[in-house]
Amino acid sequence: MKTQAGRAGGQIANAIIVPMFAVIIVSLFSVFGLLAWSSSLSDKAAEQSERQLLIGATELKLEQMGKQQIGTVIWDKAYYKTAGPFLDEAWIVDNLAKWQLQNHGFTKMALIGRNRETTFSYSSDNKNLWLTDDVESQVHGLIAKVRARFINAFERTDTGLFRFKPDYRINERSIFENGLAVIDDQLYMISASAIAPETQIISVAKRAPVVLVNARPVNKGVLEIFTKISGLTGLKISTEENAYTRSPAHIDLKAPNGKKIAELHWQVNTPGTSMLNRVLPIFAILAIAVLGLTLGIIDFTRHATKRMAKSEANAVHAASHDALSGLPNRENFRNRLTCALVEKRARNISTAVVYIDLDRFKDINDTLGHAAGDEVIRTVSTRVQPIIADKGMMARISGDEFALLLPEAHGREWIEHVLKQVQDCLARPVKIGSTELHIGLSMGIAVAPQDGTIAGDLLRKADIALYEAKNEGRGRWAFFHAAMEEDVRTRDQMSRDLRKALENDELQIAYQPQCCAIDREIVAVESLVRWLPINGKPVPPSVFIPVAEETGLINDIGLWVLNRACKDAAKWPDLIVSVNVSPTQFKHPRFAEKLVQTLEKNNFPPSRLEIEVTESVFLGSDKVNLETLQRLKELGVKIALDDFGSGYSSLSYLRRFPFDTLKIDRDFTSSINDGKEARDILAIMIQLGYALGMSIVAEGIEDEGQFQFLQGLGCHRMQGYHLAKPLAADDLSEFLDDYEMQRVMEAPEPDQPPRQFA
Ligand code: C2E
Ligand code: MG
Ligand code: MG
Repeated sequence: MKTQAGRAGGQIANAIIVPMFAVIIVSLFSVFGLLAWSSSLSDKAAEQSERQLLIGATELKLEQMGKQQIGTVIWDKAYYKTAGPFLDEAWIVDNLAKWQLQNHGFTKMALIGRNRETTFSYSSDNKNLWLTDDVESQVHGLIAKVRARFINAFERTDTGLFRFKPDYRINERSIFENGLAVIDDQLYMISASAIAPETQIISVAKRAPVVLVNARPVNKGVLEIFTKISGLTGLKISTEENAYTRSPAHIDLKAPNGKKIAELHWQVNTPGTSMLNRVLPIFAILAIAVLGLTLGIIDFTRHATKRMAKSEANAVHAASHDALSGLPNRENFRNRLTCALVEKRARNISTAVVYIDLDRFKDINDTLGHAAGDEVIRTVSTRVQPIIADKGMMARISGDEFALLLPEAHGREWIEHVLKQVQDCLARPVKIGSTELHIGLSMGIAVAPQDGTIAGDLLRKADIALYEAKNEGRGRWAFFHAAMEEDVRTRDQMSRDLRKALENDELQIAYQPQCCAIDREIVAVESLVRWLPINGKPVPPSVFIPVAEETGLINDIGLWVLNRACKDAAKWPDLIVSVNVSPTQFKHPRFAEKLVQTLEKNNFPPSRLEIEVTESVFLGSDKVNLETLQRLKELGVKIALDDFGSGYSSLSYLRRFPFDTLKIDRDFTSSINDGKEARDILAIMIQLGYALGMSIVAEGIEDEGQFQFLQGLGCHRMQGYHLAKPLAADDLSEFLDDYEMQRVMEAPEPDQPPRQFA
């Protein structure tokens, strides 16, 4: 099947090739036409000049023939011997007829008397009466001319007589005339000459001459003479009318009476045709070469234009498609969505946009490398695309974000059915080498027209819904509703307010004490940030910390907390100060450097600082995180793993990362009263910490029962409302004094041995 690019290429190629081919064909024909035309011109010119040559040759021969008779006809003896009335026929035969026959090839001779009568006739073949009426009618003109000229050569003398005195030197033609005649179907050269005296004669009147008529056959010998004179070959005489040819290569031979009596043919030279014959093979080779070259160029052009069209089509495709997955890209998706919205709105049909985000894709990239990430993208594309193909389109929007366009969404149930299919197709794990990955999808849906009728608006709302789906725990979908937009707006407002809060000193720190599990002495405090807006209610960290994380403001807040805690902690020189560090903050490339700067600035010993990080910090980029941890450890800073048990609880990173402290999540503490199973889990977690050589802190202890149970399991430190709620710095100082006093008072007897950790 021809592709569109192929067809476009063909059209472009034809637009170039057809005129080019036509020009070349026309050029070849023109060159050939020119050659043929010039060769025919040259042939014609050659034929013309040959014709002139042949005419010249015949005239020359006739001229010669006349001249050959001068010696015979200007001769007193002949003048008197032929004058009559009694002819000396024997003398005439010997001296005129035979002489002419032997010396000049004349085979026939006749004498025309003064009264125009034939007085003597001779023929070498004895057909003496050759001067028939027919022949006479042909040559009559010659005889008449000769007679007239002879007569006119008389001039009247002073005495009234007439004198005949021709000047033979200048007037020789006046006494002979030449021509052609056919006698018995044979062409003859005819010469008619007046027989004149050598000397002057005087007579009483002008007198007509006796005319000698000689005939010589135009035979092979004569034709050879013509050939010699003209250089032309193949000379042939036709005297029969039906043998006349239509060929231009002949000259008409006419009798003196003007009648055509024969044709003289010759072998025409055709230099043009010869040249053409010589040039034609070369021309043919050249033409074939040019045609071959043209066909080659045409083929090349066809391919080149096809390639060009294809690469142009590829470029157009590349501009509108994602290279990795081959799916339409964001721009393309947006355009298709815009078109679908216009079309479906006109038909009152709902259109759905689904934003898809791969859960924890970044972790795959960070832990397994980008090639694995690419493979996941490709797999998701190839698995989801067929589900959507007949319902709409799938596009890759960015890194791990995809979008579905369902131009004809038949209600919420139908959409959910499609989304279920999408999720199901990824239930099967993706195999990357020997690793099997379970890909979770979070999806946000916005539906036109109820959620909006403009592409940008719908996309934004689908994105909001996606955020919500992710927030609610990933692996799920959420349909957009107005409250979500409100949440987004609130979050936006909050992030702006938080920035101002940092500048306006609205942040404070509360410190929650931790005591030693054995003697209950306060050994550490955890700094917990508080936001007390000037004109508002306090905002809990669980609300504003995620917003600060999203906006990156957490880096500034975290640094502020650290700085503040170092300053405040000067009041409690014996206590360890725990500071929470969020994943974003920890992964910041200059985190360790800034931490060191802050410690130095406040002259705070690193050994008194404990930073708390959650498990999510260790998902991905282990190498960098491990280096940061090592660096901090080398400084003497302690590292605590916060909220242990609430996240992935992967044992592998517990082994790989050198934590000093394990903080057991509050949920486990509160589950102590839930039953034996929960208590057993707690015991195992504590044993695990022990096995890894960590100090164990229990969070969220709210009553003495929990305290004692955890104490019994061997926890090192206790934290929770049972001991104290988070307190402002000044309140903490006061608390510490009161607490210490009470603790000493309630201290057990000195002989009681301290409890050993199990
Ligand atoms: P966390 O680090 O696990 O802090 C302990 C949380 O448990 C604190 O909540 C504390 O008030 C609460 N808590 C302590 N004992 C009890 C108890 O007996 N019962 C109950 N119900 N709760 C108790 P808070 O202050 O609201 O902080 C919440 C979370 O916000 C913290 O959890 C921490 O992850 C984060 N956070 C607080 N301050 C900072 C900070 O400066 N930087 C960062 N990155 N995160 C912070
Ligand atoms: Mg903490
Ligand atoms: Mg905690």
